[in-house]
Amino acid sequence: MKEVILCKYGEVILKGANRSDFEAKMLKQLRQRARRVGNYSVFYSQSTVYIEPLDEEAIENIDEMLYQAKHVFGFVGVSRAFACEKNMETILQVVKNDLAPRLKGYKSFKAESKRSDKKFPLKSPDISAEVGGAVLESVRGIKVDVKNPDVVVRVEIREHEAYIHAGQEKGAGGIPYGSSGRGLLLLSGGIDSPVAGYMMAKRGVQLEAIHFESFPYTSERAKEKVLELAKELTAYTMRLRVHVFSLTKIQELLRDNCEEEYFTLMLRRYMMAISLRLAHQYDCEAIITGESLGQVASQTMKAINVTNSMTDIPIFRPLIGMDKEDIVKIARQIGTFETSTLPYEDCCTVFTPRHPRTRPELEKVIEQQNRLDFDALVNEAFATRETIVVKQFGDNKTEE
Ligand code: ATP
Ligand code: MG
Repeated sequence: MKEVILCKYGEVILKGANRSDFEAKMLKQLRQRARRVGNYSVFYSQSTVYIEPLDEEAIENIDEMLYQAKHVFGFVGVSRAFACEKNMETILQVVKNDLAPRLKGYKSFKAESKRSDKKFPLKSPDISAEVGGAVLESVRGIKVDVKNPDVVVRVEIREHEAYIHAGQEKGAGGIPYGSSGRGLLLLSGGIDSPVAGYMMAKRGVQLEAIHFESFPYTSERAKEKVLELAKELTAYTMRLRVHVFSLTKIQELLRDNCEEEYFTLMLRRYMMAISLRLAHQYDCEAIITGESLGQVASQTMKAINVTNSMTDIPIFRPLIGMDKEDIVKIARQIGTFETSTLPYEDCCTVFTPRHPRTRPELEKVIEQQNRLDFDALVNEAFATRETIVVKQFGDNKTEE
């Protein structure tokens, strides 16, 4: 049985003048994905995007295509529809044989029809009445409820075929990827930062990622874990560039020259300086972190201000007001949780102070900072950059 996929717009519909830009982005992203899965036609009509398989293989791969459609930001709902010949006899047969099994468990329904082909012999209310009758006949216990139905059965009579569907699955929501400009995500191997990246991507921010390692204090496996997290995010972003910098030298110098309780804060200032410079290089208009207020010593308001004061672009912290439990829920939903909880070390856990400062004074921080040549060390760290392009389809590539 041939099926098509219907994708419903969310907020995008409200976007007035920008609407056509948004729609164009979403169509392009769907087409890019469709090309990887098989031979599909992707087209727009009446506030819905249709994905139609054009050969047998594409019909067989419809589940993979559905998965892809569910990861494109901007669509709130995605449903599968049966496509069949445009005559009442065939339509009713499909309702009874193919649609009815999908309606099991629903208590009430209503039938709706739309006729874009005005030459079709029956009018919409008559189509609905016949389809409703067929549902009542073939689904045991189901009742009609036109006011508040559990599920709506829809029939569309289109130019070439009729589409029949019921219910919809949740789409990715948000606004189209790339419609809000670019942002630089500080990606560690933890639970929080991938979630922060996902949340901003959902608000249209095209992501660039930066990761800090501290080899040999952190292992090659720890870096692989971060690239794996990046790969998981590409379910939404298609590709993600990860810039890896070494903090080894800086960490050793800090260990030998700074008061232990300021160690983490100083490290974060270096991270921020390097990130800021990279952000400017890649036209990123914001920096994104997975910080959550009060979660650890470096995430108190005072500590956050110590890193905040360094940048001239905003730092987005989408998790700032969230509990760990809620963050974990999203991590599970987007499929990063398992990887995040693999037990590899992060550079933040190398030489961790026993009693980190939770209420640091900026003056004291600056005094610590001046014990080393901050700018020179940032320059040196910048020379350790390695850039890896991670793609949803295909292998990672190192970029020159
Ligand atoms: P996460 O779960 O994201 O690792 P966390 O709760 O462990 O966060 P911290 O280690 O204090 O918190 O880090 C706060 C934020 O700083 C992270 O969410 C991330 O955005 C950034 N960060 C921390 N370590 C790194 C790293 N090694 N490379 C890049 N960014 C990092
Ligand atoms: Mg961490």
